[in-house]
Amino acid sequence: MAGTDRGKSGATADLGPVIVLVEPQLGENIGMVARAMLNCGLTALRLVRPRDGWPNPAAVAASSGADCVIEAVEVHETTEAAIADLHRVYVTSARERGMVKPVVTARRAAEEMRALAARGERVGLLFGPERSGLFNDDIALGDVIVQVPLNPAYSSLNLAQAVLLLAYEWYQLGDDTPARELPLHGGVPAEKGQLIGFFERLEETLDAVGFFFPPEKRPGMVRNLRNMFERAGLTEQEVRTLQGILSALQGAKLRRAPRSEPQSEA
Ligand code: SAH
Repeated sequence: MAGTDRGKSGATADLGPVIVLVEPQLGENIGMVARAMLNCGLTALRLVRPRDGWPNPAAVAASSGADCVIEAVEVHETTEAAIADLHRVYVTSARERGMVKPVVTARRAAEEMRALAARGERVGLLFGPERSGLFNDDIALGDVIVQVPLNPAYSSLNLAQAVLLLAYEWYQLGDDTPARELPLHGGVPAEKGQLIGFFERLEETLDAVGFFFPPEKRPGMVRNLRNMFERAGLTEQEVRTLQGILSALQGAKLRRAPRSEPQSEA
């Protein structure tokens, strides 16, 4: 599958939260949860009383190859049984529950779960049924409520999207992908000496054709040109290409020059 390297494992999985779905209704959502989890390196999925039983072919189809998550699913009769071996439980809700319990954002939940896992604590993240959300009795079993801050007039996420959002935040904190990069694919950034050599040759070439006019504007024009090429972040190969362009233009000029001479009749 595109974007998937089967040779790589979800190496972070053992540190990540266990995902618990209480009374999930649609197999498709369970499959999409498994997919979202594996995208984010999570593999432990527990189901409490899934409406359509387990295994569920609709879940397998929707999981789109996240087999290791589907195959390791645990099914429990009660929420209590599903969380019995965990040290901390974060419960998720789209709405206020009127309970005196800390409420955190998804980002904060991820930070706390990472800190707890680093101390060796097993953490669970509980999600409720599509129609009703978690029962208040399940919320009461949790340490912390996670409420993803969204449009107050429409804040209820699809179950699998809620899992993705939480799992994504968790994954991001352990990921060091640069926010922006320029892959050079084996190329090497040009050294300043090579660049300056190109600048000087370009400027000589432009001098020869009278480009810098009027002459008093030359220093500013040279700086502008140099800034343009500096912004490009050129590789060694790219500077060689530019040098090649100058050589080709000079060669063309030399080749053109005889044609501008009067033709001999002989
Ligand atoms: N209709 C339900 C929401 C069900 S959505 C209600 O009004 O509560 C299914 C599950 O996705 C929820 O039980 C919760 O676990 C999660 N979820 C959806 N939106 C969320 C949000 N904004 N913040 C945290 N969890 C959310």
